[in-house]
Amino acid sequence: MGIKDSGSECRATDITWHATGVSREERERLLSQKGCVIWLTGLSGSGKSTVANSLTKALINSGHLAYQLDGDNVRHGLNSDLAFTPEDRAENIRRVGEVAALFADAGVIAITSFISPYRSDRDRIRSLVSSERFIETFLNVPLEVCEQRDPKNLYKKARAGEITDFTGIQAPYEAPHDPEIELDTSQEDVEACTKAIVNYLTSNELIH
Ligand code: ADP
Repeated sequence: MGIKDSGSECRATDITWHATGVSREERERLLSQKGCVIWLTGLSGSGKSTVANSLTKALINSGHLAYQLDGDNVRHGLNSDLAFTPEDRAENIRRVGEVAALFADAGVIAITSFISPYRSDRDRIRSLVSSERFIETFLNVPLEVCEQRDPKNLYKKARAGEITDFTGIQAPYEAPHDPEIELDTSQEDVEACTKAIVNYLTSNELIH
C-alpha cells in the first residue's frame, strides 16, 4: 500500500520504488479518517481560498486532520523557482498534485486552492491520487461576479493589460465535466459551501 508511482518522467537512473513498513490503512486507523484530496478549482475570486480556510477550520474543530495547500503560499517555498509561463504553471500544479497525494497517503485531508484551469492537469492528479480519494470541487461562479469581487485587483490589472494571460480574460478556464462537488458561491454563503463539502465527506465515509 502507499502512493503510486506517478508515471512522471524520471531523469535519474538506478532508482528503485521501495515499499514502506507502515500502510496507509494503519495511519488512517490512527486518525479515524481516510486520506483524500479536496481539489478546489475555479476562476480567481471564485472563493477557493475563502472556502478552503473555512473548511479547514470546520474539519479541525470537529477532530479531523486537514491541511491546506494554497497557491500563493507554495510559490514562496516549494515553487519559488517557478514563474507564470505555461510550462511553469503546469509544473506548479504537477508538484502540488504530488504533495497533495503524499498528504492523502499520510491519511490527511489535503485541501488545495489553485485555479488549475486545465482539465488534463487536474485529471493527471486524479489518476495519481485515485478517483475515490480525489474530490474535484468546482466553484462555478459567473466571471462577472468574480470580476466584481476582484479581491486582489487582478482583474483590473488584466483589463488594463498589466497582466497578460489572465485566466477568464485572455486565457481559458476549462470547467470540469463531472466534478464530485459543484458550488456557486454567488448563490450560497461560505457556511453553506463548507457544509456541502463536509456532507460529501461524511456520506462517502471519508470521515465519520
Ligand atoms: P480565490 O481564492 O478563488 O481567488 P478568494 O477566496 O480569494 O478567491 O476571494 C473570494 C471573495 O469572494 C472573498 O472576498 C470572499 O469573501 C467573497 N465571497 C462571497 N461569498 C462567498 C462564498 N460563498 N464563498 C467564498 N467566498 C465568498
